Amino acid sequence: MNAPLNISMPVEASQAPKAYKLLIDGKHVDARDGRSIERASPGHGFVVSRYAQASAADVEAAVQAAHKAFEIGPWPRMKASERAAVLLKAADLIETRLAEIARLDVLESGKPIAQARGEIGGAVDIWRYAASLARTLHGESYANLGDDMLGVVLREPIGVVSIITPWNFPFLIVSQKLPFALAAGCTAVVKPSEMTSASTFVIGEILLEAGLPAGVVNILAGFGADVGAPMVSHPLVEMVSFTGSTRVGKTTMAAASDSLKKVSMELGGKNGQIVFPDADLEAAADAAVFGGFFNAGECCNAGSRLIVHEAIADDFLNAVKALSRKVRVGDPLDDRTKVGAMISADHMEKVAGYVTAAETDGGSVFAGGARLASNAGQYLDPTIIRNVTEDMAIAREEVFGPVLSVLTFETIEKALRIANNTPYGLSAGVWSASIDTCMSVARGVRSGTVWVNTFMEGYPELPFGGYKQSGLGRELGKRAVEDYTEEKTIQFHRGQRTGRWVG
Ligand code: NAD
Repeated sequence: MNAPLNISMPVEASQAPKAYKLLIDGKHVDARDGRSIERASPGHGFVVSRYAQASAADVEAAVQAAHKAFEIGPWPRMKASERAAVLLKAADLIETRLAEIARLDVLESGKPIAQARGEIGGAVDIWRYAASLARTLHGESYANLGDDMLGVVLREPIGVVSIITPWNFPFLIVSQKLPFALAAGCTAVVKPSEMTSASTFVIGEILLEAGLPAGVVNILAGFGADVGAPMVSHPLVEMVSFTGSTRVGKTTMAAASDSLKKVSMELGGKNGQIVFPDADLEAAADAAVFGGFFNAGECCNAGSRLIVHEAIADDFLNAVKALSRKVRVGDPLDDRTKVGAMISADHMEKVAGYVTAAETDGGSVFAGGARLASNAGQYLDPTIIRNVTEDMAIAREEVFGPVLSVLTFETIEKALRIANNTPYGLSAGVWSASIDTCMSVARGVRSGTVWVNTFMEGYPELPFGGYKQSGLGRELGKRAVEDYTEEKTIQFHRGQRTGRWVG
């Protein structure tokens, strides 16, 4: 029996919760009906934040402000170099406030502080990358249509974009969307998760300080039904950029279809890491533990299925188990912590329910498996389940907790079949010294990203998104700004137009 985790209370526990107002038309305002949401730290249990809770009336005001800023404001009409300058200034300000933003994400999400600092540093790089892309955005010209014709294809900002984000990477995910929408010249209404809104409100402060005109970015805290849904259905919104669960993504797409909005969807995953006997097994074992337990498994890219060759299964899994016992679980504010708290008690029960169901279905708990006792917050032990078969819920559904399911294979064909036997297609990993094996898996897996002899790396230059029910469209990469544009074809005719239609 493990000793209970000893979580120390940070200084914030003895202070009043930080209060955040909505950002509408360049002003920080209370919710129209005066309601608010309180968020308690999942790692410590005390209330850390209080946000003004938006309702449909606030959505209306925010969309109108974004529409006005798009129709008559300077932002879409500014030179790309001027927009880039604002984004670069914002990146500098994020960097200056990195420690503060990381701490907010930790206190609201339960993720480890060292990891959070890495995420905010990564976000700074993304804002700078988006600024660089702003100046590369361009259309096309066609001088091959005859001497009297010139075709020009413009790329224009699409308009007002609704940006809706989840709780697992609060600052990083909004940074994968907002700077690209802004680089294109769009205006936006942003809704973070109702559990992790603080760091998104900080972006609002930073953007105003960086010189963003009023109304270009509006930020609303609130729940999906009251705030997210009207942000999706509003007729003045032209595009919805959503990251979240596949279930809500489907609802969102259906709601957006009524007014034929463009949608970009980054959804769930059930990703496999396939390990062959000729791999660097030490590195693969470390990546298996990292893939399964990073961000407490609350990660779309989690390598939640470990697909191991039969010939090495026992030895390899013993190594993975030994490493998993060394993963430091505990206080998210401790620099040494690798796995922090679970986002909510409800979610922890859901994850624990998957473990129980896996045992009922014939799986066996090989490591971990239990809720961890602690003086505060909610924590789960990194868990490995063996004897998993492809038909079991634990092998098919997104568990979103620190739970690694192990399946085994004898042939590459079977490994690929297992990897692809899921409705999701976000990412996958392959570990082998053979280029043939790596290429066969990389080509054969139906997912948006495949890591070869590495796992869960990310670069702004590389597009990210899902096959199948993991999403629609791609974020990041050199086309990320284009995604927030419409194409307009202009046909110029020179001289007198001949060839009358009516004789
Ligand atoms: P969620 O789908 O419950 O919520 C996501 C956001 O949608 C929240 O802001 C929520 O308030 C809002 N929402 C809820 N109902 C809505 C509605 N009817 N209309 C509009 N908005 C609504 O997801 P979550 O639990 O916050 O996040 C976890 C999920 O996100 C996981 O499935 C994970 O895989 C996924 N995710 C995907 C990626 C990716 O890049 N593919 C990245 C991170 C997380």
